[in-house]
Amino acid sequence: NIYNMSTACQIFKNSYQSFGYDDLIIMPNSCQNDENDNMNSVIDFSINDVNLRTRITTNICINTPIVSSPMDTVTSAEMAIQLALQGGIGILHCNQTIEDQVTQILKVKRYYNGFINDPITFGPYSTAQDIIDAHEKYGFSEFPIIDEDRKLVGLVSRKEIDLLDNPDKINVRDIMMIDLKTAPDSSSLAECTEIIKKCKISRLLIVDSEGKLAKLVCRKDIKVLRKYPLATLHHETRQLMVGAAVSTHESDKTRIHNLIEAGVDFLVIDSSNGATQFQINTLKYIKNISITILEKEIDVICGNVVTGEQARILVMAGANGIRVGMGIGSICTTQNVTGVGRGQASAIFDVAHTVWKMTMMNEINENGKIIVKPWTGRIIPIIADGGISNTGHIVKALARGADCVMLGSMLAGTDEAPGDYYYKEGVRVKKYRGMGSMEAMTQRGSKERYLSSESSGGIVTQGVSGVVTGKGGVDKYVPTLAKAIKHGFQNMGCKDMIYRDVKFEIRTSASILDGNVHHLFSYEH
Ligand code: NAD
Ligand code: IMP
Repeated sequence: NIYNMSTACQIFKNSYQSFGYDDLIIMPNSCQNDENDNMNSVIDFSINDVNLRTRITTNICINTPIVSSPMDTVTSAEMAIQLALQGGIGILHCNQTIEDQVTQILKVKRYYNGFINDPITFGPYSTAQDIIDAHEKYGFSEFPIIDEDRKLVGLVSRKEIDLLDNPDKINVRDIMMIDLKTAPDSSSLAECTEIIKKCKISRLLIVDSEGKLAKLVCRKDIKVLRKYPLATLHHETRQLMVGAAVSTHESDKTRIHNLIEAGVDFLVIDSSNGATQFQINTLKYIKNISITILEKEIDVICGNVVTGEQARILVMAGANGIRVGMGIGSICTTQNVTGVGRGQASAIFDVAHTVWKMTMMNEINENGKIIVKPWTGRIIPIIADGGISNTGHIVKALARGADCVMLGSMLAGTDEAPGDYYYKEGVRVKKYRGMGSMEAMTQRGSKERYLSSESSGGIVTQGVSGVVTGKGGVDKYVPTLAKAIKHGFQNMGCKDMIYRDVKFEIRTSASILDGNVHHLFSYEH
């Protein structure tokens, strides 16, 4: 198959060298892009023709191949929301209580709705004060009013209540609007959008044949969808999608249960070494418990691994995605502390190559063309995790066989990352720390993991705490990253994320120096 003939195969196969991203460089125009998989010598498309749509798990697609790391200085609900709006996806960290992690999931899920199936409602005898309180609690400006049989009887908005004297003495039925625009519950989201546009209303109430309130659609949500056409939305609920991390520790069984009940879209088993019995047991537990709760299996990303053999174990156990990277995070000391890990370019190649061979097969169609098809019935994406400090690294990871990349340090300095900006030596910075750093370990989740698993001796850290420079909002930063990735794809001659061979060369130390800015007294970006 094309993997076996690739230049990357020649570089990595039987090599005992551990290559990092900077050791390699991609040859321009070297992507086999045309119908017959011949190399195109001329680039004849613009970056706007490049499609970065890819997968993060067997069943979940994303339009931007960027995933935020489950770290407590990277991903909370704000990051997950903004990243999902930009077509990527966030993974909520587990260094927090189960209740907090569940709250974060609900926050992401409530940000954008297609149909709101469980709207907050009041009865006609509720008071105007109840509506004021609900407005403050949920931030919504209008609430449907239903009778004891759930029949829709009115709607109360902020403008009916905000100037009232003694709101606690006024019943909703005396102030509610009763001339309401409704739609039947067979209406599609597109039909509801048309009604909202035509009638210039902010809520469309959807009722069943008996006049009972079934669901509603909000104007704000339709506006969100227009502003963020790449957003990662669930195919049925149309809510933003989000993942969450769990550990392999016994105590996380309740966490797993609660996260699935809260509506998380997939789980990530978060460990530096994924090829363990602990991980396999956790994977099996998640699959079984999700069948009990949801009557179907939830997707699970396993890892981390850096060798094909480790990946094989997890694929056989039922993983829906493999996270690759050990000892290469910007805050990581694992390779120094334990002497174990691997250069990331070598790791991605080995894992992608092995998973590809395990899951794909070639078929020759009637025109003699080779068609690559999944044969296990399960596509298993590769997530390149850690060690990415520029968009060139992202392009190399994707060209080497990764389906998407996981970022820690590159996202930690954005507005949406947890924590406040402050100034250090005149530069605007934010705190960024490893989950195995002393600081993170002395907090809840990590503490349980590290301190309880060590029977004697002091604490062994595998990460550090540091700072990263401020990067502004994800809404500008991530589209800029995506655009730079598209420039890389254009230079390679690749229009999409379907795997094709791309030529690589190994850089000498002199060519690495030449490839960076050099011989300037000072410079600015
Ligand atoms: P971990 O919880 O997987 O492992 C911590 C210790 O607990 C290990 O000694 C492990 O063997 C043990 N353990 C795990 N499950 C157990 C169980 N059920 N029973 C008994 N012992 C069990 O955590 P970690 O691998 O140290 O990683 C912690 C965090 O730090 C994660 O967020 C991880 O992503 C990050 N990290 C990543 C890397 C990397 O190279 N990618 C390296 C270090 C840490
Ligand atoms: P970065 O993008 O290079 O900053 O790396 C982020 C990745 O480092 C995460 O996604 C984890 O896989 C890994 N990581 C997180 N915390 C630690 C740690 O304390 N030690 C080692 N690796 C870590």
